[in-house]
Amino acid sequence: MADGFVVRFRGVRGSYPTPGPTTLRYGGNTACVEIRVGDRLIILDAGTGLVRLGNDLLAQHARDRRPIVATMFFSHTHHDHTQGFPFFRPAYLGSCTLYVFGPRTFGRDLEDALARAMLPPTFPKSLEELPSFRVISNIEDCEVILISPDSQPQIRNVFRDRPEIEPGTVSVRTLHRTFHPSGGVRVFRVECDGKSVVYASDVEGVIGGDTDLIRFASECDLLIHDAQYTTEEYVQGPMQGWGHSTPEMATLVAHRAKVRQLALFHHDPRHDDDQLDAIQAAARERFPNTLAAYEGLAIEL
Ligand SMILES: [Zn+2]
Ligand SMILES: [Zn+2]
Repeated sequence: MADGFVVRFRGVRGSYPTPGPTTLRYGGNTACVEIRVGDRLIILDAGTGLVRLGNDLLAQHARDRRPIVATMFFSHTHHDHTQGFPFFRPAYLGSCTLYVFGPRTFGRDLEDALARAMLPPTFPKSLEELPSFRVISNIEDCEVILISPDSQPQIRNVFRDRPEIEPGTVSVRTLHRTFHPSGGVRVFRVECDGKSVVYASDVEGVIGGDTDLIRFASECDLLIHDAQYTTEEYVQGPMQGWGHSTPEMATLVAHRAKVRQLALFHHDPRHDDDQLDAIQAAARERFPNTLAAYEGLAIEL
């Protein structure tokens, strides 16, 4: 059995960072979630929340001198999910190993999309100049990534390979949702020894709930779901078709998927702490075990 399965929110904001006095409690960094399963470190998205995680990893490395190894997943490559990556200091360490997975979009490999996000003249270093060892792979819905305690992550085709998942192995499955402009996003389900978290950022709800997502998230311990706009903003904005959800859409998926706990995520940068308190309170009327994710929040599954 793996010891411990902890989900820690490093950045909970959508679109762009919002530091300042009105966002102190929920935080202003963009999307990044850290998952620890025993010794394994899994990172979902690389918004600006990744920067402090990188600094914490370096501080730990200075104490124990153990090499930093992380497995990163990108839901998509919009700015608010990649902007922290060039400032992730472990990537500048030769002893650091990064296994990176994400979608191929617009006919471009993930590696190409990441390389284009940090290139002169917009950034002084290019991806290939970073000293860390990196393995960057595209992933598809038919694949599962297996992360066992003692080997590098393996990609298996769920139909062709029919992989047996050993106790203690972390599995990560993906689901492509096409509603987010322009190339859609990947939702992730991270599981180990019967514990599971589903990360559904930048998804937009539909009438009755997104059936494929509901099936994918079925009975997970924690559902992290986009809840960027209030219903009024979504309708009057108009934000329909922008690829984000309302808290009502998130609670509907949580209810129909029978998840244990719901975390509202990808908060709109215009929503201050008081508004997020109100959004959380209203969502609890519909799905009681709901919280609005805040920076620093750690949930042990
Ligand atoms: Zn986003
Ligand atoms: Zn996006």
